[in-house]
Amino acid sequence: MKGLIQDYQLTLPAILRRAEDLYGKKEIVSRNPDKSFHRYTYADFVRRTKKLAVALGELGLEKGDRVATLAWNTYQHLEAYFGVPTAGLVLNTVNPRLSQNDLSYILDHAGDKVLLIDETLVELIDGFKDEVDLEHIFVFSADGSAPEGLESYEDLLEGADEADFEYPELDETDAAALCYTSGTTGRPKGALYSHRSVCLHSFALAAADGLGIRERDVVLPVVPMFHVNAWGVPFASTMVGAKQVMPGKHLDPESLLEDYEQERVTFTAGVPTVFLAVLQTLDGDPEAYDLSRMRSMAIGGSAAPESMIRGFDERHGLSVVHAWGMTETDPVATVCHLTGELLEAPEDEQYKYRAKQGFPLPFIEIRGRGDEGFIPWDGEAMGELEVRGPWVANSYFNTEEGSDKFTEDGWFKTGDIVTIEPRGYVEIRDRDKDLVKSGGEWISSVDLENAIMGHEAVAEAAVIAIPHEKWDERPLAVVVLKDGQEATAEDLLSHLEGDFAKWQLPDAVEFVDEIPRTATGKFLKMELREQFKDYQFAQS
Ligand code: AMP
Repeated sequence: MKGLIQDYQLTLPAILRRAEDLYGKKEIVSRNPDKSFHRYTYADFVRRTKKLAVALGELGLEKGDRVATLAWNTYQHLEAYFGVPTAGLVLNTVNPRLSQNDLSYILDHAGDKVLLIDETLVELIDGFKDEVDLEHIFVFSADGSAPEGLESYEDLLEGADEADFEYPELDETDAAALCYTSGTTGRPKGALYSHRSVCLHSFALAAADGLGIRERDVVLPVVPMFHVNAWGVPFASTMVGAKQVMPGKHLDPESLLEDYEQERVTFTAGVPTVFLAVLQTLDGDPEAYDLSRMRSMAIGGSAAPESMIRGFDERHGLSVVHAWGMTETDPVATVCHLTGELLEAPEDEQYKYRAKQGFPLPFIEIRGRGDEGFIPWDGEAMGELEVRGPWVANSYFNTEEGSDKFTEDGWFKTGDIVTIEPRGYVEIRDRDKDLVKSGGEWISSVDLENAIMGHEAVAEAAVIAIPHEKWDERPLAVVVLKDGQEATAEDLLSHLEGDFAKWQLPDAVEFVDEIPRTATGKFLKMELREQFKDYQFAQS
């Protein structure tokens, strides 16, 4: 027997209609390239989004066609987030920090017909725009202009009549958005989200044990809208009608802190690198900014070190929530909140938990696979994390490559090596390829990095495995010191003693000016390993 409930489709047009019905007066603020502010209301946003959907339809695009964006976090990008899927098309957000090779590969592989590009990024496509099959390139600009040979996004909207818009009846399983993995290994691969997956993910972000985003929040996503849909934050924020603050291309700590203070931001989200810089700026002058409205800073994408979580909390009264996810998981899958039981635990234990990646959101299931089958949830045994759920990919777009990451019984193999403790808290110990295997034992490079970054003189640290005759592999720490600070290898190693067994300590520390990063700000360990491939430890 079936339940007697309406067959209501979970689609993005439904979120847009809700925004129109309920939140017309709420504000969306956006930084222009010259740092001035663009301000308008949800009513303006909905009107322009409808025009975009009409205009895209009039270009002759057909259902399921792909429309790419290369853009910062701006109001125009937000219009594309809703206008493209509402027109029955697929939004392909592309990361401008990728190499030209990867950019042209993605536009070509996705089969994008239209590109919406920020005025500050147009030169990125100069080298290859004639080689890909784009039919139109429209430029997002503050004054509505477009460089010669390209079309103006404002003219596109101008030419469309809002009266021609009708809310479409889409199937919730239709594709809505296409995001490519940042490709730390192999070619970028596309994860294709459905309307349903985006809607359910938005619900999970709004849940109190998710990110708790609600109408009264003022939300500033630092995480770029070109990286896994800014973790779905713009979709969730629009669903609940939060005021949105888009930082544009101004992601330096001072600009962000100005935005936080001036717009009374209550919730923000981004990767640890950005927030380490924010923390350093705050430490430099703790009285300079009034952040009393901030209720939560969600940090993920790489491990948020315990020292950073403590630093924000203890020195500035700011609460960090650690989250984990991947392009293939739409992306947020686990979020770290303390359970009622842990709220009674000693403070040091609470911080240890808060540095873990958290427990799975509702409907996300997890398991860990070790060498001898599934690992016990004891917080000790390590294995590869596998996930399944209504916003987890079941295959990659248009390729067989990577199909070995999807198990026969319907789970996705993340490549992250984890422990899971009895309450379900996941702790990422490493990427499978980043583990250091010494004398048959695993050393977590992530643990070492976090601990080294806890030293006051250290800005950044990455630990890589160096091949070793006797032990198979040994860890090398590559460290960037903070400006004007000094520390020797001995200082750093003695800082680690006590927290690690002697055999787990790096055999050497190398100081460098910078650590190579992927386009999304993660340490590019492949390149670091390449840089140090002939490295010899002094005593080995
Ligand atoms: P991406 O698909 O580019 O978002 O990268 C996903 C990968 O980033 C994951 O598989 C993890 O290796 C890493 N990652 C994401 N969030 C975290 C986190 N909170 N802690 C540690 N690693 C993370």
